[in-house]
Order: sequence, then C-alpha cells, then structure tokens
Amino acid sequence: MTKMFKIALPDGSVKEMPEGSTPADVAAAIGPGLAKAALAAKINGEMRDITRPFESDVQLALITARDEAEALELVRHDYAHVLAEAVQNLYPGTQITFGPATEDGFYYDFAPTAQHGPFTEEELPAIEEEMRRIIAADKALVREVWTREQVRDFFEKQGEAFKAEWVMELPDGETISMYRTGDGKDAWIDLCRGPHLASTGKLDPNAFKLTRVSGAYWRGDPKNPMLSRIYGTAWLNKKQLDAYLVRLEEAAKRDHRKIGAEMDLFHLQPEAHGSVFWHPNGFVIYRALEAYMRRRIDEAGYQEIKTPQLMDAKQWEKSGHWGKYRENMFVVPDEIPSTEEGAPVLSGDADLMALKPMNCPGHIQVFKQGITSYRELPIRFYENGSCHRNEPHGALHGLMRVRQFTQDDAHIFCTDDQLVDEVRDFCLLADRVYRDLGFESYAIKLALRPEKRAGTDEQWDRAEQELRDAVVAAGFATAEYGWEELPGEGAFYAPKLEWHLTDAIGRTWQVGTIQADRVMPGLLDAAFIGEDGEKHTPVMLHRAIFGSYERFIGILIEHYAGKFPLWLAPVQVVVATIVSDADTYAQAVAAKLAEADIRVQTDLRNEKINYKVREHSLAKVPLLLVVGKREADEGTVALRRLGSDEHQKMMSLDDAVAMIGAEAVPPDLR
Ligand SMILES: [Zn+2]
Ligand SMILES: [Zn+2]
Repeated sequence: MTKMFKIALPDGSVKEMPEGSTPADVAAAIGPGLAKAALAAKINGEMRDITRPFESDVQLALITARDEAEALELVRHDYAHVLAEAVQNLYPGTQITFGPATEDGFYYDFAPTAQHGPFTEEELPAIEEEMRRIIAADKALVREVWTREQVRDFFEKQGEAFKAEWVMELPDGETISMYRTGDGKDAWIDLCRGPHLASTGKLDPNAFKLTRVSGAYWRGDPKNPMLSRIYGTAWLNKKQLDAYLVRLEEAAKRDHRKIGAEMDLFHLQPEAHGSVFWHPNGFVIYRALEAYMRRRIDEAGYQEIKTPQLMDAKQWEKSGHWGKYRENMFVVPDEIPSTEEGAPVLSGDADLMALKPMNCPGHIQVFKQGITSYRELPIRFYENGSCHRNEPHGALHGLMRVRQFTQDDAHIFCTDDQLVDEVRDFCLLADRVYRDLGFESYAIKLALRPEKRAGTDEQWDRAEQELRDAVVAAGFATAEYGWEELPGEGAFYAPKLEWHLTDAIGRTWQVGTIQADRVMPGLLDAAFIGEDGEKHTPVMLHRAIFGSYERFIGILIEHYAGKFPLWLAPVQVVVATIVSDADTYAQAVAAKLAEADIRVQTDLRNEKINYKVREHSLAKVPLLLVVGKREADEGTVALRRLGSDEHQKMMSLDDAVAMIGAEAVPPDLR
C-alpha cells in the first residue's frame, strides 16, 4: 500500500497525498491557476522547492508572487545562478564561488581566468543577453543530494578550486544539495542550499538588469585572492524594475554628497577618512539642529552633560566592549610626553586608552558620583556625544557612514516601575521631532530576543512586554505607525524599539532607538538607594532620535533634495538687484532682515537678473528678494520662492520682513 502523508493547508483543511508527491501536486489538485502561480513552498515554515517530495506529515503554505518578500528572494537567487551559468558559457575557465540574493537583486563572485582579468561594465550587456537565452530555454532547476566527496571530486574535475575548498568545510552531517539547471550536455550545476523556482522560465527576462562590477575578496578576507563581483538588480516583473530604476535615478539626483558640494555644506578628504569637514553653510544646519534638540530635551526633563573622549582601556574591559568591540575602537597609548631627547614612556596609570565608541560607560560614571536615592529617579543624561568607530575605508559613505560622529545620545536611569512611562514619553518625543523635521511617515518596530542572548525566557518575556506596553500607551502600536515585531533582531542583552523614517522618495532609514538595559549598570556598579534603604541596580535606557547628527543631516539633505525649510536653510534670503541704482536700497533691505535674525546675503553683481535667479536656485536659496529702482522708490520687494511656479509677489518691505521672520521660526517655537 502506498504510504499517505497528511498535508495541512493554511485554511485549516488537510489533504492526503501519496508518498513521492510534491507541493506542486497539491497546487495542481487545488486548481490550474494556483499550479501556474505557485513558485515555492513553505514546509513547516521553511522555504522549499515546489518540486521537492514530502517526507512526512507537514504544514504547507504555497508561495506565489503575492508573497512578495519571499518571491523576490527566490527569483533573485535564481537570477544569480543564471548569471553564473551565463558567465561560464561566455568565458570558459572562469571559476564560480558564491552568489546570494541582496536587498534589490543579487550578485555573484567569480574568479576570472588570468588572461581575462576582472570583468568590466562593457561586458554586462552580452552577459544579460546570454541570461535571457537561458531564461527562454526554460531549463528545469533540480535539487540533488550528493556526498561531500562527490561534490569535491566533481568540482576538482571541473577546475573549480573555490567550490571544492568550500564543500570540505561544511559541517559534518549537513545535507549537501546541488542544483542542476537543465540536463545533458547543457546542464549547469552549483553547490547550493536552495530553494529555487521550478525552472528558469519562471523568471521574467525583462525584470532584471546587471548594474556594476567590483572587486571582492574570497570569503571577505584581504589575505585571499581578489574575485570579480557582478551585481544585478532583479524584480518580479518589468514594471517593478522600471519603478526601481526611476527611484535610483531620483536618489542619484538627491545624493547628499552631490548636493553637499553644490550648497557648499561639507567635504571629506583622505587625510581624515570618515570624518567630516563642516563648512560654514553646513554647520548652520548642524547648529540649528543642535539648538532645536537642546530645546526639546530641556523641556522633556533631560540634563545635558559632556564626558571624555579618551578613557582607560580598563574601563572598556569592564563594560565588556574591549572583548567584543576592540577591533572597531581607536586605541591610543597613554604616554608621558618627552621633554628631553628619548622616546615618550607609558604613564603607568594606563597603558592603553581608547577613543570612546559610545557614551554609555561615561554616563554611568556621572551617575555614580555621590549617592543617588530612588527619589531622584528618573535621571536623564543627554550628550551630544562625539564617538569614533573604526570602519573599513571601503564601508565609509559620505555622511551616511563615518568614523567620527556625534550622537544625540541620552541614558535614562530609572526603576523598573518607571520604565514603561519613560519609554512612552520617549515615543511621544520622537514623534514630535520627526514631524517637526518634515517626516510624515515612519514605522516603529520591536526587535525581539535573538537566538544567542543573556538572561532567562521570563526576563525576556517581561522586557519585550514592557516595550510593547509603552508603545501602546503612546498610541503608536498601530498599522498607521508601521508597528511590527521583528523576531531575533534584538540586542544580546535586551529587546529594542527602532524608528524607521520614510523619506520623500519612499526609501526608509532606521534612525531612532530605545533599549532597556539591565546588564551594563550592574557591570559598572551603578546603584541607587531604594525605599527599603538597600542598594539597587537601576535600569538604563539607551536612546537616540537622530542616531547621529552627521547621518541625520545626510538623510535630511536627500529627503529635501537640498530644499530645506526656511528655519534650516543655510542662507535664507538673497537680496538681488536688477540695476546698480538699487544697491543702497538692497543693502538697507538686507540690514533690516539681519536685524530680524534672518540669514541674508546680497547679490549686487552687474549681472542679468535671470542669471542671478538661476544661480541662487542652484544653491537652493529658499527666498529671493528682487529689487530695482521702482522697489527702492516705493519701499517694496519682489519675492520669489525656490521651486514655486508662482510669479514673484510684490510686498512692502515691512510685510516681507514680518512674513519671513514668522516662517523662519523653528517648528517647536511656533
Ligand atoms: Zn544557489
Ligand atoms: Zn548607550
């Protein structure tokens, strides 16, 4: 008798299927529409090939293009295989290594032959053509289980040294699967965990594009050979691809490095890799944000402090950073400067010091001064905390990824009973800040316990529930706020809330966080005296809203495409003359605006007004006051607004100053 398996479906029904049958058979039994649409299967929550036979009674969910995240990951991984096959068809002797799916597509790392050398972008169109041919051939993708030695022998025979090396390092007992694309002499095989779609013909030949090439070390290690990486972007259909390409183009136009140069905001140079040189214009924005944040935290009951850049390595050992974080810290010998000849000597107090990568241990030192009673809690310490983290040069990116940055960092020391209220208040504060800065939409996510973690399940249950309760109390645990729980993404010692902003072109940026820490205060002996007269360890909430000033300004530049709201604009108004007869009047106008604390410049050059308008538009000056003889005679100005189709508006000078003054007030002071 044939053995039967019970296949439970998401709607609660159960199908009996004979041994040897597959999820594809279940789809076919349900209907031809689903048979065509089903791309893969989720078996007890794990993604599998749709053609892989059942091995037991299972829960089955069929994956279609509607399950967009899963479907995208599947097709992207398929495209990576098709890319590798295409490259080996066109460039025999090229060795394959790894090719995963990425956030917007896929890549594959190749070891080209010595004669060929690294791939170039000129070669991408031909490779795309070959990929389309493989897709059109609709080759089946079939999973096979091999032994480790079979795989090694196979790859060695093919001259694939990297794959042969890799397979021997897979853990014992791991099932080793190979995926075969097509068969006969047309077959192409890769070592792969899968899953994949049933055949290459399931891919849309017009939904991908190879985008660029770069170098990458084998297994990411600079001691290993340099490989040639080909990147592609891939989607479920052409419409999605086109929309993505438009978004890329729009993002390129908004690139903060480009706009930063056009507006003369900042620069970077190799002598200070990853540290920003702020120019006067850029630092106006920085200072406006600092001043804004100080007002917000003052009214929220924080106290501002400043803690040292350099601390003894022993301090970092105690906080646990030295062990886990050492390679990202800048370490400095603690030397007594030499006054005479001879090398400086170590001070003896400390051998090594480190630039702070974070502010938390410093804040604990301030908390520990004197004796703290429960009556003083909560204590909220804020710092514009300048931190250094050593990141590889290749990972640095404009203002978005730097080595020196300033966090809007605060630590709230409180009791267990105060925690939920404190987190709720933080949610409300973050909401005000993001809205003030022009972000209409953001998502709050709760990152739950990771697999490797400190503490018991009961402690985690409670810690997660506290954060959930706080967001509910603030009224933000709703779909409108993108409320979502992310299993496994919390820190080693605590769950955390994350704020993800959506920018003007729909991209998301993770910025704010809050985390309830019951570990570090204990490690660094922070304590308060409770109502019972005993010593207790406070909870420490780590929190930031911007994340860092540098990155947040980068995000703002791209969000606004440089067209800042008036209160943040480096130059708020330019007074431009039409004729030199109006020079004196223009200067008087500027003086009046400056008196009202408006950042104003004059443009008295002997140039055509259209030329001046164009130039100040490029520099993204929000308001232009045009003055000529008539305006001088009548005491008026002609106001032009950046990016507005409206013609210029005539106003009396007094009205213009009042209007501009009102508009330039920061949102929290209105
Ligand atoms: Zn694969
Ligand atoms: Zn912290």
